[in-house]
Amino acid sequence: MSDLLANHTTLRLGGPAARLLTHTDPAAWPELAHTIINEPTAPFVLGGGSNTLADDAGYPGTVIRMATRGITARPLDDDAVEVTAQAGEPLSALVAFAVSEHLSGIEYLAGIPGTVGAAPVQNTGAYGQQISDTLTRLTVYDWHRRRHVDFRPAACGFGYRTSIFKAHPGRWTILQAALRLTRSAYAAPITYQHLAHALGIPLGARPPLAEAAQGVLADRCQRGLALPKDGPDARQAGSVFLNPLITTAQADVVRAAGGAVHHDDHGVLRASAGWLLQLAGYHPGSRLAPGVSCSTRRTLTLTTHDGATAQFFTVALQRLAHDVFEATGIRLHPEPVRPAAAWMPVGSGADHDSEASVI
Ligand SMILES: Cc1cc2nc3c(=O)[nH]c(=O)nc-3n(C[C@H](O)[C@H](O)[C@H](O)COP(=O)(O)OP(=O)(O)OC[C@H]3O[C@@H](n4cnc5c(N)ncnc54)[C@H](O)[C@@H]3O)c2cc1C
Repeated sequence: MSDLLANHTTLRLGGPAARLLTHTDPAAWPELAHTIINEPTAPFVLGGGSNTLADDAGYPGTVIRMATRGITARPLDDDAVEVTAQAGEPLSALVAFAVSEHLSGIEYLAGIPGTVGAAPVQNTGAYGQQISDTLTRLTVYDWHRRRHVDFRPAACGFGYRTSIFKAHPGRWTILQAALRLTRSAYAAPITYQHLAHALGIPLGARPPLAEAAQGVLADRCQRGLALPKDGPDARQAGSVFLNPLITTAQADVVRAAGGAVHHDDHGVLRASAGWLLQLAGYHPGSRLAPGVSCSTRRTLTLTTHDGATAQFFTVALQRLAHDVFEATGIRLHPEPVRPAAAWMPVGSGADHDSEASVI
């Protein structure tokens, strides 16, 4: 397979990597890290590429594709089990494992593309659940200290779609994640009205685990939140903007215009980025730049077609953000990550050093 990053990202954008390594054997990590540590360019770590906007010029250093697999379970007590997964394991495989083992805590994350290792980076979440709710330990490689380190959740700086791993890209590579899941045949209480409606149960009820996960998959398909194998929406990275943080004054403006505001899982007031795009005049199918349009199902998802480049994609993002700002004064921030080629300066993220335990 060619080393074009377009072959490894769901947007199908990105030029060649100077070197592309696929990491499959956890025991081989020290040797792999050793070959990279003195390179002038920091490595870029790629999972499933479903939240990455790679440059047309490609990447000037080593790209490491995390493809380690494996899930193990260890009983903790009568109520809980610790489930440990390698970074390259698909998140969907971990969800399927939990559901089949009657373990509750991640069932509403069904259908999110990508890997276990990338999920803590943006604290991946959906339908009121986020990966940080159940994480107990991350085993990471610290490129500054050149060794393995264990992180407890309190040291990870988790917030709405963020963490210290996102704030300090390239300092740590997540190798494995441990979660505390609850023994139960039932899902966590349902908090999304339309999902409760689709399952025919009241808000706050607890559907059987498999029903909850299947309900989420069906809802994702119906609302254009799934990644189709083919068709006009197959090349995408999901939502392209985070739901923006807003002031109470901006919340009043949004409500007056007919929009909804909500408090996120961390209690912060946010508006719906998709609704703001529609207020600014965009809709599913809007053409934005050569080869780039809103998906046929959702304004907040952009899809790429023949002729698309990362540069055109960036132009489309800038156009949308500009028009929302002109219409509302609210700033949108892109969700997909652009690979950064520089090593993080030594000391970056150092405030977290004392909170992590070296193993
Ligand atoms: C159809 C669709 C629906 C989606 N729905 C949701 C949703 O509901 N909620 C949500 O939160 N997201 C959603 N996403 C976005 C995306 O799937 C998630 O953010 C996912 O967790 C990204 O995983 P990945 O392996 O593909 O990440 P990648 O794109 O490979 O990487 C993303 C970032 O994480 C870093 N990274 C990857 N692996 C590691 C590692 N092992 N250690 C350190 N850094 C690493 C990369 O360097 C990059 O900065 C959706 C995307 C699509 C296409």
